[in-house]
Amino acid sequence: MKLRLTLLLLFTAIITLAQNTTTIIHAGHLLDTEKGKWMEEMTVTIENGTVQSLEKGYKTVSTTADYYDLKDKWVMPGFTDMHVHMETEYNPHAYISKFVNDPADVAYDSVKYAEITLMAGFTTVRDLGGSGINISLRDAVNKGTVPGPRIFTAGKSIATTGGHADPTNGGNQAFMGNPGPREGVANGADEARAAVRHRYKNGADCIKITATGGVLSVAKNGSNPQFTIEEIKAITETAADYGYHVAAHAHGDEGMYRAVEGGVKTIEHGTYMSERTMELMIKKNCYLVPTITAGKEVAEKAEVEGFYPAIVVPKARTVGPQIQGTFARAYKKGVPIVFGTDAGVFAHGQNAKEFGYMNEAGMPIMETLQSATITPAIILKLEDKIGQVKKGFYADIIAVNENPEKNVAILQQVDFVMKDGVVYKK
Ligand SMILES: [Zn+2]
Repeated sequence: MKLRLTLLLLFTAIITLAQNTTTIIHAGHLLDTEKGKWMEEMTVTIENGTVQSLEKGYKTVSTTADYYDLKDKWVMPGFTDMHVHMETEYNPHAYISKFVNDPADVAYDSVKYAEITLMAGFTTVRDLGGSGINISLRDAVNKGTVPGPRIFTAGKSIATTGGHADPTNGGNQAFMGNPGPREGVANGADEARAAVRHRYKNGADCIKITATGGVLSVAKNGSNPQFTIEEIKAITETAADYGYHVAAHAHGDEGMYRAVEGGVKTIEHGTYMSERTMELMIKKNCYLVPTITAGKEVAEKAEVEGFYPAIVVPKARTVGPQIQGTFARAYKKGVPIVFGTDAGVFAHGQNAKEFGYMNEAGMPIMETLQSATITPAIILKLEDKIGQVKKGFYADIIAVNENPEKNVAILQQVDFVMKDGVVYKK
């Protein structure tokens, strides 16, 4: 009996020791996202998934430590994409897939997309809408069941009847029914509150609303306002009770202005944003999530015969190409910007294309890197955990072969990925 206990204690000690393994990285160039500067020849020490220390110079590595030689690489904290859809990826069959796919089919796909996203250097994402499988996916990633980025999810986004993200749009009458707050469709302030509470009940981390029409929904108008100011305020106030921030999809200016006025934290796309709305965003510290990559992609795919339903094509042609120009104007005016792509509208794993598009529109590369690291950390209330390689932060570390400030496209070829101290790609 005593021997058994001793063996058990010994075994526990070995396990604990294994978990406490120290990892050392020698980083040739390490990004300080706060200062926007590269630190040369640094040693990063990691224990229990957390950065323990950051030292100047290459320190000696003990024989028991795991060691990664990144002396010839540009090393950065893992990126955050503030607008992805982990459950889906658009293809010509996307519109009928909701009638033929079972939830399990969606779940298997989402596992694949999560891994692709992580391997592209995105160690945290905000998922802005799916069926709710994105909540289970988050839990599976957190448990270590499947590899993927740290996920903050809105679960199912909230729409009004017939609006962008009413899940029954485009179906025949037999399928349409009359979805309510539980399904993410709300009309009037009371239902709006109920819809937020259903998201809380289901385990969401934030709230997404579709403040205007959208390009890819089977509906004629891609930019009309779809919520009243009363409904928006009911949502943001209820969300605040649960510690949630609210993200608003918006193309048209009127719906966008109401969303900002009503207290949302981020505007997604922002296509037809007026000067008046920009000024209000600056005043209220509301962030624009550019999604330029999605805009370019839908404009391109609109020209592929049969890729989108006929009703979607003219919207994709007109809305898509506007997005980069709006971003350029908003950035120049001083609207707060946070990185987000709408991956899922285009292929997962290509998130880093956005850096180049933002730079093309006038934002210096260093600022694009900050918009994908320290800025999302503020919105997600993780400013002491993600977005920096620093003592006490999660060990989310990525690396590329060239200086991204000289070649922004290199960010599409991340070749080292560590999340929570675990190396997924080397
Ligand atoms: Zn989206």
